[in-house]
Amino acid sequence: MSDCIFCKIASGEIPSNKVYEDDKILSFYDLDPQAPVHVLIIPKKHIGSLDEATEEDKELLSYIMLKIKDIAKSLELENGYRVAINTGEDGGQTVHHLHFHLLGKRSMIWPPG
Ligand code: AMP
Ligand code: ZN
Repeated sequence: MSDCIFCKIASGEIPSNKVYEDDKILSFYDLDPQAPVHVLIIPKKHIGSLDEATEEDKELLSYIMLKIKDIAKSLELENGYRVAINTGEDGGQTVHHLHFHLLGKRSMIWPPG
């Protein structure tokens, strides 16, 4: 999608501080970290939000979830971590390209704000 910031990051048009990349996904450090470790994981395919994912994305979504586990391991989050998918207005989504927040190296509170 031409005016999507995360599509531009996925294509390399906008630089990012990369953690992991393969042909399907990219992980990079969040610009405004909310925990000592805060990275984003995005599919390279533009999907506007979790709400816009379809049956066609099933394999990609499970691929991402299992990669997040590996990324958490590579970032030494052995004490635990949180994965968040903000979705839509009430979910607090500000960038309309599906992304998974991976947060760690601090104790999280529940419920989230
Ligand atoms: P959300 O509010 O769930 O849509 O999350 C969007 C996230 O993207 C926020 O945590 C922002 O700090 C982060 N973000 C926005 N632009 C960039 C960028 N160019 N590089 C890294 N993180 C970004
Ligand atoms: Zn996009």
